[in-house]
Amino acid sequence: MSGSTIAYDLPVADYIARLDATGHVTHQSFTKKSVTLHHNGGVNFSHDTILNIWVTRPASAHFDVDSAGSVAQYVRVNEYAWAVGDTTGNEETISIEMADATGDPTWHVSDATWKAAARLAAWLFANVVHARPDAGNYFVHHHWSQTGCAGPYIDSIWSQVLAETQRQYDALTTTTQPAKDWFTMATVDDLKAALSSVLSTANIVTVGTSQWSVTHVLDWLRRGVGGNSADIAGLKAAVQALGDKAGVDVQAVYAAASKGAQDGVQAEIAGASASVQVNLSAVPAAPAAPSVQ
Ligand SMILES: [Zn+2]
Repeated sequence: MSGSTIAYDLPVADYIARLDATGHVTHQSFTKKSVTLHHNGGVNFSHDTILNIWVTRPASAHFDVDSAGSVAQYVRVNEYAWAVGDTTGNEETISIEMADATGDPTWHVSDATWKAAARLAAWLFANVVHARPDAGNYFVHHHWSQTGCAGPYIDSIWSQVLAETQRQYDALTTTTQPAKDWFTMATVDDLKAALSSVLSTANIVTVGTSQWSVTHVLDWLRRGVGGNSADIAGLKAAVQALGDKAGVDVQAVYAAASKGAQDGVQAEIAGASASVQVNLSAVPAAPAAPSVQ
């Protein structure tokens, strides 16, 4: 059987074939519902040292995180590692060993190690378990059977470990939208929101590299000023596109506003989608015409 490490976004040393050779793993796949942390019971043990222990001891775990925070994988993520001393636990959980920085009795684990383990656990929750880590699916070894593992130190900081893992999980699962400008907005909702923003009073809009007061821009548009400004021409096109996509007749809004006809503005806006919220008080009094560049 060939090795098959997880598609993690950080390096994973592949010890799967070498662990297979020990025979201390059950090659049967299970749906994983939890993640369990361990300490590996040795001060600054390397990934190789852990493998050598498992050559003779009938034990294994899916992963080990060393003192520097680097990750090695020994057991395929859905398989049954000989890790937690409980059949259901070994079927359902993914086990991560952590190197100790000190020995008995504290079994201190360095920040670099437990934070790397938390990051790995968060990735496993996001990509294998498909659940946010919490007290019901994120454990230390002694949840499953009688043992001190993962040691008094990890027990003492467990709320921190859980919080860090949740933070990493949220970062991995939250889709970050790239900042949009008017020219690259894609969805009708974006456009509606932007149109609402355009017609509200205090906003400064960025067009290209320039910032413009919306009230001034609206007035320029009403007056047809700015013909020699690429920014204004672009802004006009963008506002028109916003209106088209949002179902607002932008030209009619400007025409009504330019006559000071608040009722006309109201009628035009009422005709648009109800989700376009416009602050009518924002329709500006005409400022002095800007000087043409
Ligand atoms: Zn353990």
